[in-house]
Amino acid sequence: MPYRRLMTIIGSPLGGPGLAQERRIVTEIPGPVSREWLERRQRSVARGLSHVLPVFVTAAGGGVLVDADGNSLIDFGSGIAVTTVGNSAELVVERVSEQVAQFTHTCFMVTPYQGYVEVCEELNRVTPGDHDKRSALFNSGAEAVENAVKIARHATGRSAVVVFDHAYHGRTNLTMAMTAKNMPYKDGFGPFASDVYRVPMAYPFRWPGGPAACRENALGVVTDLIHTQVGEKNAAAVVIEPIQGEGGFVVPPDGFLPGLAAFCRDNGIVFVADEIQSGFCRTGDWFAVDHEGVVPDLVTTAKGIAGGLPLAGVTGRAEMMDAVHPGGLGGTFGGNPVACAAALGAIETMSKEDLPAAARRIGDVMLPRLRKLAEAHPEIGDVRGRGAMIAIELVRPGTVEPDAAVAAKVAKTCHAAGLVVLTCGTFGNVLRFLPPLAIPGALLDEGLSILEDAFARLTGAPGKP
Ligand SMILES: *Cc1c(COP(=O)(O)O)cnc(C)c1O
Repeated sequence: MPYRRLMTIIGSPLGGPGLAQERRIVTEIPGPVSREWLERRQRSVARGLSHVLPVFVTAAGGGVLVDADGNSLIDFGSGIAVTTVGNSAELVVERVSEQVAQFTHTCFMVTPYQGYVEVCEELNRVTPGDHDKRSALFNSGAEAVENAVKIARHATGRSAVVVFDHAYHGRTNLTMAMTAKNMPYKDGFGPFASDVYRVPMAYPFRWPGGPAACRENALGVVTDLIHTQVGEKNAAAVVIEPIQGEGGFVVPPDGFLPGLAAFCRDNGIVFVADEIQSGFCRTGDWFAVDHEGVVPDLVTTAKGIAGGLPLAGVTGRAEMMDAVHPGGLGGTFGGNPVACAAALGAIETMSKEDLPAAARRIGDVMLPRLRKLAEAHPEIGDVRGRGAMIAIELVRPGTVEPDAAVAAKVAKTCHAAGLVVLTCGTFGNVLRFLPPLAIPGALLDEGLSILEDAFARLTGAPGKP
């Protein structure tokens, strides 16, 4: 391990799996060093970038983040579902160190290199379906989604794109148009790309008439709207997150995704699964659509793909991917060799360590404890998710009226105690849990105890010490 030897020689504190797996709070959160940097940050970085928790991280690995004040925090966020294999995972560090010393860039469109091809081979292998596939690599999730739309338009000769309520697909112009939520993602940033149509999401907790009506009616409502307001023959693509991410970890009822995929197949519409947040072992399968054996035409990937390095992909049916003329896809940095090396290390880790099983184990620990918590706290209206992609939705007790204030309060209490949790949801009232799959069981338990304690304090009941 040349990297580890090098870092030991120069005496830097090592991150990665070797980092002490403990919660350790030695200052208030954020501490004085982080507060000093926050001031520098305010004078140098644009205000439009915000922070969930302004502690400046100096090392991370396994299930912890260590900050500049020496605090060690439990990580239930994974940098938004990115460090699935853990921070500075061993194989990622090894492969990246080798690659960065070898060469850092050629541009795949100028002179190709092997790592790019190997990542595409891996993507073609691990994504759903055993049909002939091709892949293309990009820098960010948004860029992958844009390219999936470009490919679908070429493959079909049609232009309309169908998306869902509560969807999140990115912050570029086309993906802003595809994203549902105005504030903060779209407000004042228009005009947006045209020919994007939004239909209701099969959201059991919020469907009129409740979960049973959702299971019964959602598919019909969606396909009727596509028929009446778009016209099947105008639709290039239906783009859906199989479990919605930023929109609130919305899990559609069983049957909805297979039905939607069949509708697309029957009407020559490209079915695009945006697996950027839900993919790469997060939900207990390699991809969230695997749960019901759905085979999308195109799959977009990013976030968890490369252990923290920026990389994204579009993978799909060979004949659709190859519908685009040579030179029609690409980008200067897309599929950078260092990011490809990281992806190969990350994917090897996922396979070798059976990370889908690790995600299922995390879900098996979290879901029963959260359901029990919900019994004691009527503010928790819904507990949902799969594997290590779990959320609770907060409401005014006895209603479905969103309560973002309670979500914010619980998150703040957790942060102060050294647990990194994120919120999400169109109404900002969902607490989501995305621990690295490398998190030790003891830290998972401790994080859940901190959360339970935060709820106990909400009602003034004495918390655990
Ligand atoms: C994060 C996300 C994106 C955008 O990815 P970026 O890398 O931030 O551009 C797109 N789709 C989904 C489902 C996401 O979670």
